Amino acid sequence: MTVNKMYAAILLGLCDDIVIVINSESLLIKAASPAAVRWLGYESSQLMQMQITDLECALTDYFFWEDIRNGNRPNLQGIAGLYKLANEEVINVEKSLQTLECDGESLIAIKVRITEEQKTVAEALERNAAVLRATLESTSYGILVCDVDGHIANMNRRFAELWELSDTLLQKGDDKALYAALVAQVVDPQRADEWVVASLGARDRDTFEVFTLHSGRVLEARSQPQIAQDQVIGRVFTVEDVTVRVQAQRDLEAARDKAESASRAKTDFLSHMSHELRTPLNAIIGFAQLGHQDCADLAAHAEYKEKFRIIVSAATHLLNLINEVLNLAQVEAGKIELRIVSLDVKPVVQDCLTLVQSLADKYDVILGIPDLPEQAWVKADGMRLKQMLLNLLSNAIKYNKPKGHVWLSVSACDRGWRFAVIDDGIGISISDQAKLFGEFSRVGRKQWQVEGTGIGLAFSRKLAQLMQGELGVTSAPEQGSCFWIELPKGDVQQFEGLDAVSLKTELALPVCTVLYIEDDAFSRKLIETALRRRPELTVLSAESGRKGIALAREKHPDLIISDHHIGDISGYEVLAQLAADPATRSIPMLMLSAGGSAEEHQQALQAGFRRYLNKPVQLPLLFRAIAELVYPRLP
Ligand code: ADP
Repeated sequence: MTVNKMYAAILLGLCDDIVIVINSESLLIKAASPAAVRWLGYESSQLMQMQITDLECALTDYFFWEDIRNGNRPNLQGIAGLYKLANEEVINVEKSLQTLECDGESLIAIKVRITEEQKTVAEALERNAAVLRATLESTSYGILVCDVDGHIANMNRRFAELWELSDTLLQKGDDKALYAALVAQVVDPQRADEWVVASLGARDRDTFEVFTLHSGRVLEARSQPQIAQDQVIGRVFTVEDVTVRVQAQRDLEAARDKAESASRAKTDFLSHMSHELRTPLNAIIGFAQLGHQDCADLAAHAEYKEKFRIIVSAATHLLNLINEVLNLAQVEAGKIELRIVSLDVKPVVQDCLTLVQSLADKYDVILGIPDLPEQAWVKADGMRLKQMLLNLLSNAIKYNKPKGHVWLSVSACDRGWRFAVIDDGIGISISDQAKLFGEFSRVGRKQWQVEGTGIGLAFSRKLAQLMQGELGVTSAPEQGSCFWIELPKGDVQQFEGLDAVSLKTELALPVCTVLYIEDDAFSRKLIETALRRRPELTVLSAESGRKGIALAREKHPDLIISDHHIGDISGYEVLAQLAADPATRSIPMLMLSAGGSAEEHQQALQAGFRRYLNKPVQLPLLFRAIAELVYPRLP
């Protein structure tokens, strides 16, 4: 380069304007200022291979430069023209021309000024693009944009970070290599492959998939069409790292499973324990009751009578506690099976009132005549409804005062039927009402004098809710309380069950033989003793299933009462073997079990037992069942 040319190049480099120097004969660009490279968007080396007519593209420019080539050398100032940029955009400019001679070469220096208006638009576009880019880079989502053919058009840094793509790979710009690197990280590459192909072909639909990577991370991927002027011009893939969220969810599920299995274990333990405890307790209560009765007429035995009474009372309390704890554990574990049927409320209510009469006598509380509509049927589990009503009635009696009153009424309500147990007893303050339904919650001054566990109301409310109903209270201290249960309406039916029969009726029994099969010695002795009090009955007993079957074949009893679990074989097996033998097939069987669940009850009846009774059995119920099951066999 000669000294002149060198100076010219230095000067051009310092120039802040767009200056282009061309050879006036070939029209080839010889030099361009840095501003020209920046604004026009071509590489400097590219420009050096272009003619000025590649940039100045108006028709007038073509004729103008033809003139120049033919020797015309004008010096012009501020003429308008059009320039084509590297991105194919055409902009308005103002240009000035200066002819030069340098080392014998005829040159023309063109100074180009982009009009202010054009500059503002370009700058605004540049600003927008920068904002857009910054937004894309500041999001926590990885973003990748493909054109309609699936070629990668763009991606943000977060995408490369999420997929741990190396710089070398990114610089290569090889779509296939990049795509292979993504798929290789996924645990199920085939599914990933299929999803990408399906997404690229999805046109205007969105797609979604979750990928687990070999590294253990979990990525959520979505794809949406990229639309410009109503045309799908490509597809945008967004990726989010959801590892922490998924892990938290998994931890939560694991904790829930653990809690559920702990709760199941607790319920199983309680149910097993309570079964073990109930059998001897039933024997204690039964024998103490018999002892109490035996002492009844003998003044000399008054002291023993009191002792028997205390045993019965303490053991009954213990039995109630065991039953209530088990009930609550079962309801909490969702293990309570309800047998919801349409029930006539009248016999249920009357039964309950009969059952609490002795408690009312004990507390010197008067039970009012119930206010019952003629036809009221509810959808409920009969046994559980009784349990709830007995809880409310016994509370109304226990938390009362001498000569106090308790009324039970049934009336229609929006939900169906409303049972109200009203008392004029000690009442409950507003603050105590808020605590009433908590487990083991006992309130008010009487809690220290009256026996209770604080579980009944919590359990009863849960039961009511399980039956699509509700249980609530209104109360005022020293005035009394109204505890209510609302249950859905049932369908009116035409028969009356055993529940309708008053338990107090002294029944005449047929002269018959009853065989009782029970492995627990206390329970066996208890029922034997109780049955032997009725002179009409001849009682046989067996301590195992097999002995029971042998005795049944030998003696042909009129009725067999069997426990569920009898050491060697179950009550069901006894039933099956006797039913298979024509000689014993017609002997009715009754199951007497401590299980007590609605499911077990149902199962026993389905298997062929004619009745199912719960331990501790109420003797009137047992006698009633004997009467009903044996009479039909008489000629
Ligand atoms: P328990 O009667 O075994 O203590 P409950 O859950 O049935 O348990 O009742 C919880 C508490 O509610 C009782 O301890 C008692 O303080 C209070 N309560 C229940 N019913 C009445 C009532 N009718 N009048 C006054 N207090 C009552």
